[in-house]
Amino acid sequence: MKPISLRTRLALWMVVVEVLLLVVLTAVLVLTLKNLQNQQIENTLHLSASELNAVIDVRDGHYEVAAGETAVVRERGVMAWILSPDGQVALTIGNAENYDLPMGLPPSGQLNTGTLPDGEPVRYFVTPLLEGTDLLGTLVLAFPLSGNQIFTQQIFLGLLIAIPIVLILSVLGGVFLAGRALQPVATITHTAQKINAESLSHRIEMSLPEDEIGQLAQTFNAMLERINRAFERERQLTSDVSHELRTPLGMLKTQLSLARSRPREASALLQMMAEMEGDVDRMTRLVEQMLTLARVEQRGLTPLEIVDCAQLLQDIVADLQVSAQEHAVTLELTLPPQVDFFLLADGERLRQVFVNLIENGIKYSPEGEVVLVTAVRHWQQISISVTNKGAGISPEQIPHLFERFYRADDARARTTGGFGLGLAIAKAIVEAHGGTITVKSDSGEGSTFIVHLPTLTQNNPFLDNPLLQKEAKQFDGVCT
Ligand code: ADP
Repeated sequence: MKPISLRTRLALWMVVVEVLLLVVLTAVLVLTLKNLQNQQIENTLHLSASELNAVIDVRDGHYEVAAGETAVVRERGVMAWILSPDGQVALTIGNAENYDLPMGLPPSGQLNTGTLPDGEPVRYFVTPLLEGTDLLGTLVLAFPLSGNQIFTQQIFLGLLIAIPIVLILSVLGGVFLAGRALQPVATITHTAQKINAESLSHRIEMSLPEDEIGQLAQTFNAMLERINRAFERERQLTSDVSHELRTPLGMLKTQLSLARSRPREASALLQMMAEMEGDVDRMTRLVEQMLTLARVEQRGLTPLEIVDCAQLLQDIVADLQVSAQEHAVTLELTLPPQVDFFLLADGERLRQVFVNLIENGIKYSPEGEVVLVTAVRHWQQISISVTNKGAGISPEQIPHLFERFYRADDARARTTGGFGLGLAIAKAIVEAHGGTITVKSDSGEGSTFIVHLPTLTQNNPFLDNPLLQKEAKQFDGVCT
C-alpha cells in the first residue's frame, strides 16, 4: 500500500482538529444561547409578576387590571391567569384567554417548564397575589417557548450549513498551504539526490524564511559544506603525502640506478646505501607521523595513566640538553615550587607534544639564546609554555601553523627535515586530552607555544568519559 503523503496527513489532521473544534464551539454556543434565553424569560416572568401584583385590584370579588398594564405584559409575550382563593380562574391577561391553565402547577415561587393542555411548551411561574398580608388569590404567569425553540433551531440549521462549507474550504486551504510549506522539502530532496563525492559543491539555492524548513535547508547546506571541506582535506592530504614521498622515492630510484649502472668499489656502494637508507628513514618518519595523527584523531588516547607533568618536563628537558648544546642554545625549565602538576593522560603522547615544541624552539632559536620551558597552574588548568627568541612567525602564518604539512618557511623547513606535521600532531594530542594549544609570536622577537590542559577535577568536561572517571577517582586519592 502506498504510504499517505505528509501533505495529505497534515491536511487530514487539520480537518480532524477543526471538526473537534467546531463541535465544541457549536455546543458552547447553543448552551450559552439557551442559558441566556432562560435567564431572560425568568427575568421577564419575575418582572411581570411583581408589576401585576402591584396593580391588580379586587373589588367586590372582581379582579381588575389597568388596560395599559395588561398591554405591557402582553407585549412581553407573557400570559397570566389570576386565580381566586378558591382556585377558579378569575381573570386572564394576554394570550391566556385562549388556553387552559398549565397542568400540574409547581408550588408558589418556583419556576418550571411544562406544557399547556394543547401541547404548547411554556416556562411558568406561580406566585401568591397579596395585598399587604391579605391573600387575594394566585397569579400564574407563563411564557411560550416555541418562538425561542424556532430561533435555536434556526441557529442550529445555520451552523449545519456553515460547518461543512468551512470544512471544505479549510481542507482546500490546508492542502494548498501544506503543499506550499513542503515545497522546499522537495527541493532539498532533489538537491540531495544530485549529490555524490564529485558534486559536493551543490547547495540549496532558495531564499527561505528563518522557520523550521529554512533552518533545515541551512543545516543541510552547512552539513554539505563540512563534508565538502572534509573531502577537500582528504584530497589535499593524499596529494601532500604523495608529494612528500615523491622526492625520497625519486632519489632512491636514482641511487639504485646509479649503483647498478656499472661495477663500483665496495666503499662507494656503502656510501650510496647510506644515502638510500637516509631516504628510507625519511619516508618511514613520514608514515609514522601520519599513522600517529590518524590514530589520535580517530581513536583518541589509550591507555590513560596519572602523569606527573613536572617530572615529565624535567625528563624531556634533560634528554634534549644534548640537542640544545649542538645548536648552541641554553635550554631552561622553570617550575613553581610546591605545586602539583598531576594529569590523567597518555604519557607517551604528551611527551611527543612537548618534545616537538621544545625541538622546534631549539631549531628556530638563534645561537646563544635561551629556550625557556615553564609550567603554571591556574585552578583547574595547567599551562605549559615553550618560548624561544628568533625571527618569530608572521600574523598571516599563525592561523595555518597547526594545519597538516604547513611550513611557515618552506625552503628552510625542508632543509631541517620537517614535514610540517609536528604541530598538527601536537594539536590533535592536546585536544584529545581536552586541552588547547595556542601560539603568540612577534616578528623579530620570537615565539611562545602554550599548551593548556585540564587537571583532574569533577568539573572537568573531559571527564565525561567513563574510563577517565574511574581513573579520576583513584587520582583524587593521590592529590588530596
Ligand atoms: P616540522 O615538523 O616541519 O617542524 P611543525 O608542524 O613542527 O613542522 O612546524 C610547522 C612550521 O611552523 C615549521 O615549518 C615552522 O616554519 C613553524 N614553527 C614551528 N615552531 C616554530 C618556532 N618555535 N619558531 C618559529 N617557527 C616555528
